[in-house]
Amino acid sequence: MASNKSLLILPGDGIGPEAMTEVRRIVDWMETNRAVKFDVDEDLVGGASIDKHGIPITDEVVDKAQNVDAVLLGAVGGPKWDNLDFSVKPERGLLRLRKDLELYANLRPAICFDALVDASSLKPELVSGLDIMIVRELTGGVYFGEPRGIEDLGNGIRRGINTQVYTTPEIQRVARVAFELAKKRDGRLVSSEKANVMESGVLWREEVIKIHEAEFPEVELSHMYADNAAMQLVRAPKQFDVIVTDNLFGDILSDCAAMLTGSLGMLPSASLGDVDEHGRRKALYEPVHGSAPDIAGENIANPIATILSYAMALRYSFDMSEEADLIETAVKNVLGSGMRTADIMSDGMTKVSTTKMGDIILRELDKISG
Ligand code: NAD
Repeated sequence: MASNKSLLILPGDGIGPEAMTEVRRIVDWMETNRAVKFDVDEDLVGGASIDKHGIPITDEVVDKAQNVDAVLLGAVGGPKWDNLDFSVKPERGLLRLRKDLELYANLRPAICFDALVDASSLKPELVSGLDIMIVRELTGGVYFGEPRGIEDLGNGIRRGINTQVYTTPEIQRVARVAFELAKKRDGRLVSSEKANVMESGVLWREEVIKIHEAEFPEVELSHMYADNAAMQLVRAPKQFDVIVTDNLFGDILSDCAAMLTGSLGMLPSASLGDVDEHGRRKALYEPVHGSAPDIAGENIANPIATILSYAMALRYSFDMSEEADLIETAVKNVLGSGMRTADIMSDGMTKVSTTKMGDIILRELDKISG
């Protein structure tokens, strides 16, 4: 049996725990069927942590997160904690994890499952077979740059200020993650900025070119202004393999790409940091969706985004591509057989609960692995 792999599970709030229950069953399945042992620890984040400890994440949980191979998070937040001060809201738990683990590269795949092609707002032929990856810089840029604030200029006039700022190491490290990903995929990377009007964009482009020439000459690199990238994403999304971009443009482009695939309940993500002295890359995996308080506790949430986040953990933190492929194929087959949770339901399909979707995916895993 292979050496143990450590996984910290933080189910969080709302539908987070419901979806995570289904993931736990797949983790168990992996142990039984793929001879791989996970040391799984589970703890609190978000509102669940506020209820028990008065804060959205404890130092102890952050410490645990620093010392595992991967963290898998459900979702945080809900109306129960909406009136708390911003500094102690559930979302702060997640922000602290991202900050303390220095998770600077946010990976958002946009994959369109053939069975869900009609859920996209684009024509089926534009999205059928779509499989792109957006790498967004997550810890720098205009959301964090100084100076920032709102100034009173007198005479009833105010001025809002945010600063777009990037250093060369910040650009280089996220570019490396994107080049490495492109190398493992189709070998094509588009770097997106606004070098035509922004100096930070000029620097971004220059640094990406340097990394390309020095370290990844085998990857095909091209550059695209962010406004054009937005246009191309809805015009002909399949032209892309991997896109790397800054925090602000990445925020917009990744949401745009996500919606090409139809449903929030299907979208996983990963946030990666640096490789530590043990060769372990800091990593947090989570669905793109939130805690969906409107449907929490009803056993109707779609667990697939969280299950696919676990598949991403297998692929990127545990080097278990075969197992990740198995999960993704199982999901594809289950959707192909017409099984749908309420959020992706359409005419002629069979509506199933969260638990039932977990059951069917496990059964499919048995079938395709055996
Ligand atoms: P949301 O993603 O929770 O829900 C948006 C809509 O999509 C809702 O109608 C919901 O029922 C539906 N939905 C989302 N995921 C689904 C799933 N897996 N299956 C079926 N339907 C699903 O976004 P929101 O309503 O804006 O936010 C709710 C709470 O979640 C807020 O407190 C917000 O701050 C928090 N939030 C957390 C995260 C996170 O933990 N990363 C992200 C976004 C929002």
